[in-house]
Amino acid sequence: MSTEQQAARLKQIKNQLQLHKDRGIRLCLGCESEPRLGYSHGEYCETSPRLPYPHKLGQRFEAFTLHCPGCGFKLDGFMNLQAALCEWHRANTPGDVYYAARWAERFEQQMMAKAATTLEH
Ligand SMILES: [Zn+2]
Repeated sequence: MSTEQQAARLKQIKNQLQLHKDRGIRLCLGCESEPRLGYSHGEYCETSPRLPYPHKLGQRFEAFTLHCPGCGFKLDGFMNLQAALCEWHRANTPGDVYYAARWAERFEQQMMAKAATTLEH
């Protein structure tokens, strides 16, 4: 992709995200912050985000992920914005015992993984 194409693509993604925000995006179940979008793309390599479908090394990819700037809760990467948003909405379903427990479990795992990496470095 050329630089102009990349800039156009980024603008497209921002516009799509804004559309979703205008319609209402769920807030973080843990701290009620509005999620932020993480986007990465390029040629798939060892350090690229894990995606639901396996990618071959060197293959072009795009990864979308939503995370909370407040408490750090994050979700896995998806190949399109719609899928990442669906996952965010599901994970942050308010007023539901099952989703609340699942959220807390994921958050705890993430914090433990973070603590482990901090210790390693
Ligand atoms: Zn949060």
